[in-house]
Amino acid sequence: MDGPSASGKGTLSRLLAKELGYTYVDSGAMYRTLAWYCLCQKVSIPATPNELNPVTAKPVISALRRWKAELKVVDGAIWLHVGGYFPKIEIRTDPVEKTVPIIAQIGKVRDWMVARQRDCLKFGPLVMEGRDIGTEVFPLAPIKFFLDANPAARQERMQGRGNQASTNRDLLDINRRQGALIPALDSIRIDNTGQTVEETFTEIMRQVRLRQAQR
Ligand code: C5P
Repeated sequence: MDGPSASGKGTLSRLLAKELGYTYVDSGAMYRTLAWYCLCQKVSIPATPNELNPVTAKPVISALRRWKAELKVVDGAIWLHVGGYFPKIEIRTDPVEKTVPIIAQIGKVRDWMVARQRDCLKFGPLVMEGRDIGTEVFPLAPIKFFLDANPAARQERMQGRGNQASTNRDLLDINRRQGALIPALDSIRIDNTGQTVEETFTEIMRQVRLRQAQR
């Protein structure tokens, strides 16, 4: 399940995982956890994506090599734990919001994350949400959704959550070279502008049942 911020992919992925009895994975939380770890460790991180180059990316790549991160299932969802700790609250703070789209542009970071996201399959069938799940992580997934809503609707949802930094994050995610935020060609695209969560969920389940009947 891919899509920009406030497209509803988090809420709908959780609902879908629950309905199907699958394990839920928030791939964005993994990138956020690395950003949090780098901030805690005072790792030098470029202030803007323009400053990213092989030299400025090095400290983040070194942090990635030394951190002790492992996947754990908690209440039907998989989270990266660092030294046994999952920074659930910390990864939603402003400094992490600002840092995450920068570190997410580093090729070696993306390679590491994609490998861990694929490892999640060892826990069984998944509903995974993110930006590049249908294009890079699981290009052969049996069903892919790309959720979106018009900018005004997404802005309104973001304001409801007190989150302003996301539009900028989406632009950075769309324009990066590796793992860009774009719909997979074979994804089912749903524009949920003006829809309730229930309406979008009904449409998603209709598509899932249709696909299951065809297999
Ligand atoms: O989904 P969420 O908003 O928590 O993601 C935070 C950030 O992590 C995104 O803005 C993006 O920079 C990065 N991300 C990514 N690829 C994914 C999921 C998230 O690059 N599959």
